[in-house]
Amino acid sequence: EEQEQEYRAYLEKEKHVKAVTLCFSDLEGRFHMLDYDKKFLLASADNLTFDGSSIRGFTSQHESDLRLQVDWTSFLWLPADLFGAGKVMLFANVLNRSGGQYESDFRGLLQQYLRELDRQEGLTAYVSAEVEGIVVEGSNAEQRFDENTGFQMISRGGYFHSLPRDPLRQFIDTAAGVQRAMGFKNEKDHPEVAPSQFEMNFSYTHALRTADLIQLYKLICRQVANTLGMTATFLPKPVMGINGSGMHTNISLAKHGKNIFYDRDGEEYLSTQARDFIARILNHAQEMCLVLNTSVNAYRRLDPHFEAPNQIQVSPIDRGSMIRIPVGNEKTARIEVRSVAPDANPYLLLYTLLQTGLNGDPLSGQHEGSEHVRLLPGTIQEAIEYFEGSHLMRRVLGETNVEKYLSYKQMAADRSPRALGTQIKTSEIIYH
Ligand code: GLN
Ligand code: MG
Ligand code: MG
Ligand code: MG
Repeated sequence: EEQEQEYRAYLEKEKHVKAVTLCFSDLEGRFHMLDYDKKFLLASADNLTFDGSSIRGFTSQHESDLRLQVDWTSFLWLPADLFGAGKVMLFANVLNRSGGQYESDFRGLLQQYLRELDRQEGLTAYVSAEVEGIVVEGSNAEQRFDENTGFQMISRGGYFHSLPRDPLRQFIDTAAGVQRAMGFKNEKDHPEVAPSQFEMNFSYTHALRTADLIQLYKLICRQVANTLGMTATFLPKPVMGINGSGMHTNISLAKHGKNIFYDRDGEEYLSTQARDFIARILNHAQEMCLVLNTSVNAYRRLDPHFEAPNQIQVSPIDRGSMIRIPVGNEKTARIEVRSVAPDANPYLLLYTLLQTGLNGDPLSGQHEGSEHVRLLPGTIQEAIEYFEGSHLMRRVLGETNVEKYLSYKQMAADRSPRALGTQIKTSEIIYH
């Protein structure tokens, strides 16, 4: 409320601000943006409607009207050189016709759930994401991919390299500069292990803001790469034989300002609350894999030979395990979920991880006793089957969302009969 008044006043006063970009994400995490004239938005913010039937994963045609509700707490400035002059951005939640939370908008659902956690248990979820991506040559689809030679990398340098006048460095410098200007709290920016691969880390913050920042991060990278005549892709495994791109997701929970994942007497300094959270995620790892790894291509990445996990276990060191416990102190104790790909819907992802970690069933004796490490699904088809059969996913996400999501994922699986092959089609790289 207070913030709404403050930003409304700012918009009215600042003559150079002409337009407001509102953005929201669909069920699969595709980012949607629309620009409102400032005056129109200020006058009509309570009554912004759009045609939901034109957004994949939203309403069907006979019930198409949806509403946008501005989240004034998400206000930020857009740098003119990338987005045009005189624009600010706000995230919006999607409401149904009658003004209630729309059931397939996971930004709104995540926000609701986080508020509930705070109100009922005094809990705050903190998250940071390590978003990796790869930059390839060419700024249009035809240049990007050649059926015979695959992608052309823009750099040959590896982890932390220092090659002079390197195009990847130029990309990272520019993108990180934009992030800083937009209020990301960057911590470190660096070339990753694969040639032409990057990772820019920003500070952990509230789960909802981190999900917003993930969407912005990808937007900024794509925009910056395009201005440099390149393409930034968040395809999890664009090239076989080298590391793919992950989105390690670090989670901790605080109660009344204190990190409850930390226990100075616990094993690896983790509390029993953290251990329980891990146990529930491991127990349901197969069922929720489709939310963490949402594309056909994501399953090519899950290979420990390339630092990407396929084992359903927790480990302080082993990078083949889906959860790692980084060394942490009172403030930084957390768990790192490594089996996440960067083309996941961050809102759906965090909603599912938090709900499962807090409300799932802990690891049953059946798994505990076995000496074989269970593995994550090896293909999207396998993941679809686990997801489809999961009571927890149906309970947590809702029948309608599960059915919708399954139908899109089944379509993707069917479109790619060579799901296990190594060739990647141009059509796979457009959005993710
Ligand atoms: N690229 C690896 C992955 O796919 C991670 C490598 C790293 O961060 N050390 O998850
Ligand atoms: Mg990292
Ligand atoms: Mg990394
Ligand atoms: Mg990591």
